[in-house]
Amino acid sequence: MKIIETHSPEETYKVGYDLGNSAEKGQIFCMSGDLGVGKTVFTQGFAAGLGVEDNVNSPTFTIVQEYEDGRIPLYHFDVYRISDVSEMDEIGYEEYFYGEGVCLIEWAEIIEDILPEDVTWITIEKSMDEDFDYRKITIE
Ligand code: ADP
Ligand code: MG
Repeated sequence: MKIIETHSPEETYKVGYDLGNSAEKGQIFCMSGDLGVGKTVFTQGFAAGLGVEDNVNSPTFTIVQEYEDGRIPLYHFDVYRISDVSEMDEIGYEEYFYGEGVCLIEWAEIIEDILPEDVTWITIEKSMDEDFDYRKITIE
C-alpha cells in the first residue's frame, strides 16, 4: 500500500501520470472517492502518462470511453449512473477487462461484484483537518 498526499490538482495529475506511464496491458485500476474529489483529474494524468493525446473527460452518456492513441488502449469507465451490473453485461465489459488495454474505472465500488480479484484500488479523500486542496491518495 502506498499513500500520497497532494495539495493541488497538478500534483494529483502527476501521480496519475506516473502510474499511467508504467501501466501494463491487462491491469485494472479501480477508483473510489466522493464527487469532486479528483478522480477525473487523476484519470487525465493517467491517460497522459499512457501517451493518450485526446481530451479525457468523464464519459457522460456512455459507461465506457475508449482511447486508442496511447502506448496501449485505455478503457475509461465511469459507472456512477449504473443501477444494475447487468448494464455492464450489455456493454460487454469482459472484452475490456480481459482485453488488450488497461482499464480505469471511476466509482468502481458500484460494480464490485463483477471485478476480478487482481485489481489496483486508488482511493482519493479530502480531509476536514487540512486545506481545501488537500487530497490523500491511497494506492493498494
Ligand atoms: P471527480 O472526478 O472525483 O468527481 P474531478 O476530478 O472532476 O472530481 O474534480 C476535482 C476538482 O477538485 C477539480 O475542480 C480540481 O481542480 C479540484 N482540486 C483541488 N485540489 C485538488 C487536488 N489536490 N487533487 C485533485 N483535484 C483537486
Ligand atoms: Mg469524474
